[in-house]
Amino acid sequence: MTDSDIVPGRSCADCTLCCKVLGIPELAKPRGVVCGQCDWNKGCKIYAGRPGSCRDFDCSYLLSPALGEEWKPTTAHLVLGYMAREDIILIFTDPDHVGAWRREPYLARIKKWAGMTDKGYVLIWEAKRALALVGAQEFDLGELRDDQAIIRDDHRDGTVRVYAGAKNSPQAGEP
Ligand code: SF4
Ligand code: SF4
Repeated sequence: MTDSDIVPGRSCADCTLCCKVLGIPELAKPRGVVCGQCDWNKGCKIYAGRPGSCRDFDCSYLLSPALGEEWKPTTAHLVLGYMAREDIILIFTDPDHVGAWRREPYLARIKKWAGMTDKGYVLIWEAKRALALVGAQEFDLGELRDDQAIIRDDHRDGTVRVYAGAKNSPQAGEP
C-alpha cells in the first residue's frame, strides 16, 4: 500500500478506531479494546516501530472512493476492510456502538454487498462476536475461539450456510 492508494483528501487525522476494534496478534491485543500503545484520537505512541499487522492495515474508508464521507470511522463507528481473494467484506463495529451497522444508511449498503457475493460474505465483528451475511441470510457465529475458522458451505441446491468450524478443515477460511 502506498500513499497514492489513499483517496485524495482522506487521512487518519483524529481517528484511531482501528486501534480499538482490530485484534493485533503481535501484541496479544484482542478485538474491541483500545491498544495500550494508542494515544486515543491522536495516534500510535510507537508508530515507527508498530507491528506488521498495523502497518499492513488501511481501512476501506481510506482506500475506496466508492464509500462516501458517512463511512468515516469516527462517524459510522465502523471500520471496514476487504479481503479481495476471498471476497470477504470485514466490518468491525465499535463495541461502544453495538449494532451501529444496523442503522441507515449503512444497513441498506451492507445488505447490497451481502447479496452480491457468490463466494464470500460480509463479516460483522462486534468485539469477539461475529455475524456473517450472505444474500438475505444472517448467521450468528457467536464468540469465535482461536481454534475456529469461518466456513462458507455452498450446497448443490444453491443454498448457503456460514458457520464456525475447525481451523484445520479443508474449507476453512481465515478472516
Ligand atoms: S480506522 Fe481507518 S481512518 Fe481510522 S485510524 Fe484506522 S485506518 Fe485510519
Ligand atoms: S501498535 Fe499502534 S498502530 Fe498498532 S494498534 Fe497499537 S496504537 Fe494502533
